[in-house]
Amino acid sequence: MSTYLSTDRVEHHYHDVLIVGSGGAGMRCALQLADAGYRVAVVTKVLATRSHTVAAQGGINAALGNVNADHWHWHMYDTVKGSDYLGDQDAIEYMCRAAPRLIRELEHFGVPFSRQDNGTIYQRPFGGQSLDFGAGGQASRTCAAADRTGHAILHTLYQQNLKAGTLFYQEFFALDLITDNEGCQGLMAWDIAKGKYHLFQAKAVILATGGAGRVFKVTTNAHICTGDGGALTLAAGLPMEDMEFFQFHPTGIADVGPLITEGVRGEGGYLLNSEGERFMERYAPTAKDLASRDVVSRAIALEIREGRGCGPNKDHALLKLDHLGEALILSKLPNIHELAFRFAGVDCTREPIPVQPTMHYTMGGIPTNRFGEVVYRAEQGDEVVMPGLYAVGEAACVSVHGANRLGGNSLLEIIVFGYACGKRVLEYLEQRNYHPTLAADCWQRGVDRVEKLLPAHKNNDQAFRVSDIRNRMQTIMQEHFSVYRNEAVMADGVARIEALAGELKDMSISDSNRVFNTELVEALELENLMALSRVTAAGALARQESRGAHARDDYPDRDDVHWMKHTLASILDDEVRLDYKPVRTKPMSVESFPPRKRVY
Ligand SMILES: Cc1cc2nc3c(=O)[nH]c(=O)nc-3n(C[C@H](O)[C@H](O)[C@H](O)COP(=O)(O)OP(=O)(O)OC[C@H]3O[C@@H](n4cnc5c(N)ncnc54)[C@H](O)[C@@H]3O)c2cc1C
Repeated sequence: MSTYLSTDRVEHHYHDVLIVGSGGAGMRCALQLADAGYRVAVVTKVLATRSHTVAAQGGINAALGNVNADHWHWHMYDTVKGSDYLGDQDAIEYMCRAAPRLIRELEHFGVPFSRQDNGTIYQRPFGGQSLDFGAGGQASRTCAAADRTGHAILHTLYQQNLKAGTLFYQEFFALDLITDNEGCQGLMAWDIAKGKYHLFQAKAVILATGGAGRVFKVTTNAHICTGDGGALTLAAGLPMEDMEFFQFHPTGIADVGPLITEGVRGEGGYLLNSEGERFMERYAPTAKDLASRDVVSRAIALEIREGRGCGPNKDHALLKLDHLGEALILSKLPNIHELAFRFAGVDCTREPIPVQPTMHYTMGGIPTNRFGEVVYRAEQGDEVVMPGLYAVGEAACVSVHGANRLGGNSLLEIIVFGYACGKRVLEYLEQRNYHPTLAADCWQRGVDRVEKLLPAHKNNDQAFRVSDIRNRMQTIMQEHFSVYRNEAVMADGVARIEALAGELKDMSISDSNRVFNTELVEALELENLMALSRVTAAGALARQESRGAHARDDYPDRDDVHWMKHTLASILDDEVRLDYKPVRTKPMSVESFPPRKRVY
């Protein structure tokens, strides 16, 4: 261990609330608390507005009814059905009911939504949306700012936070949660630009660290989506929920991954196979190309498997939108036009875009209730709250998406639960009005994470190649835990991931510099990704059914008798342990939607 460190090298900060993550979830939550006059700090590993929320394209759902009569209860029905009945219905009801009010609030904050001719917010149809509990046809529920909705929301929330006085610690990397018998007391972080340690003491810590798409090789997610908050939670001995459910988006650009929004199909685009056939008509006769994402991804995978894939390798489908006309494409989908050109060399006003199912969204996450409080199961089986620790957004599993998320519901989740969590923390702060004394060595674990990676000598012969191990990990996950899964392939995948995780121990990097050491940051992210890969792989192998995004050849049906339950996976004594908890089927005020066969 390096002797570089002494306690006075750790800078100590006190805040009422510390939020890790400046995406939409972290920012919405921060705003609630800063507006109430609390001292709120946001720690983010990139510049605040570079968070992945900025990349969200298609839009955010709310039953505003600007295009056709709509109702939050129908939105709730669609979300429960879309989740393949694994979503918690109290949280889903809360989200769908709150949506119209909180979207209008966003509008008032200044989000520049696109407009209908009559001046109301523009809403486009998205996958899995229906009217009148599925009896009334397709709904148009997704509020959009062209195809740059996330950008519009994130920048608006950032401005509102600056106005409210939120403090930002940018390019700070969260290393470790500080917990004791009384709950979570703060966080250790590393200042990437200056190479210094910081101890943040806070009465409440909120993890809003986003998804973990980089567990897989081909993904629509930014390089920063490495599931860090989940790994911190696992390291604190707490479980992760439902990590076997990763969503494959049907239309990532083939081979490279950037997303082509579902909004393209919402505007009237459709998929073709190598025979020029509009194949979704066979798989989802009513909703066709706007069936939910798991259904469309499986259909593309099957077309490819049966030899009707496109291109020289017959490995993708084509997304046709030229018939929508240049004017519509350039006004409603300008970003897609640019992405298709840059990443596929295609002018989509004339030719179709090559697409394939691509890892897109982390349905699982840090287990929380609908107030954003992190929960775990006590030994007696009751669910208990971890005092002072909260999680929101894609990092959390609340769980509104269950086994499959509907498009447009994730931006909604970050706004609704960012708000709900902020409200709950305000109540908590009323009782918790002091900073306790921390254990003298509380910073040690965080410091050790960095020091054990940094080489003692300039030329480190024992250095491991971060990119090499990361590639191997992503390849295993991509090949063994893809759209279709089975026992033998997954069991082999679990063994390989466990062996690779073993290789990660006792390793150091080659760059000993402390200032802006990007190799160090990547190594820390790799450790985090590896922990999440382990729980994902173990949870997937154990779940012997097909539900939502978890589709098994050997168990093709959903099994509500044995598997209508959430997976809880922990890493204790360096071993993955699995436990389960029931789905919350009881909504807050309406009747429950019992499981039914899903047809679109
Ligand atoms: C290409 C793309 C398009 C999408 N389009 C849509 C859409 O149209 N509609 C929709 O509903 N959803 C969409 N989604 C999903 C949605 O955008 C995300 O789920 C959502 O924005 C996540 O927000 P978040 O605040 O939870 O996390 P993020 O926006 O990912 O932010 C995470 C934050 O955590 C910080 N962080 C992470 N780790 C650390 C660490 N160790 N230390 C310090 N800080 C850390 C990061 O710096 C960042 O600020 C899309 C996703 C992608 C990838």
